[in-house]
Amino acid sequence: MKKQKTYSHVVMDDDKESNNYIKVEKYNGSLVKSLAGGYGKLLSEIGEDPKRQGLVKTPERAAKAMQFLTHGYDIDPSSIMRSALFKEKYSQMVIVKDIELYSLCEHHMLPFFGKAHIAYIPNGKVVGLSKIPRVVDAYARRLQLQERLTDQIRDCIDETLEPLGVAVVIEAQHLCMQNSVTTTSAFTGEFLKNEKTREEFISLIRSKLH
Ligand SMILES: [Zn+2]
Repeated sequence: MKKQKTYSHVVMDDDKESNNYIKVEKYNGSLVKSLAGGYGKLLSEIGEDPKRQGLVKTPERAAKAMQFLTHGYDIDPSSIMRSALFKEKYSQMVIVKDIELYSLCEHHMLPFFGKAHIAYIPNGKVVGLSKIPRVVDAYARRLQLQERLTDQIRDCIDETLEPLGVAVVIEAQHLCMQNSVTTTSAFTGEFLKNEKTREEFISLIRSKLH
């Protein structure tokens, strides 16, 4: 999908360190129209009658939903991180766990969803904690692979925060795969080098691991 500069759907209230998303109903009109055309055609091709009452507005709704599900293309996760970096001497592991995650697999364009658990060890800088779920969302709201998503989140935090280490674990269910949970992980620095550090992180999130 092409990048749509004029489109923004979800913004965060940056003045408050909160996880409250403010939903902004703003769509790219011409994109809605062309996507809706495609969805109308799809409905006919699967044997539906796009003119029946329940489906009349479906192509437009689906077009808007697809824009929402891919709005991460318009967000720069690094700038989210850079907007809230603070000098801080704290040097213990910082963990944000059970971050809700919703994405679309790029092979089937079907949802995968689950939880992300993220930790870092500061090296003179910390980040406003609400930014980490926003980084997750910015990468998740695109066509993705769980493996790539995991690495992108790790790299973004690593490059902007320059910590002593980053750990990312994602556990997700994929609608294209029945009855299973896929767990992916990505580590840098101390989490790679030091088994004890990695184990501490895993034990702190373990209660939530499948
Ligand atoms: Zn898939």
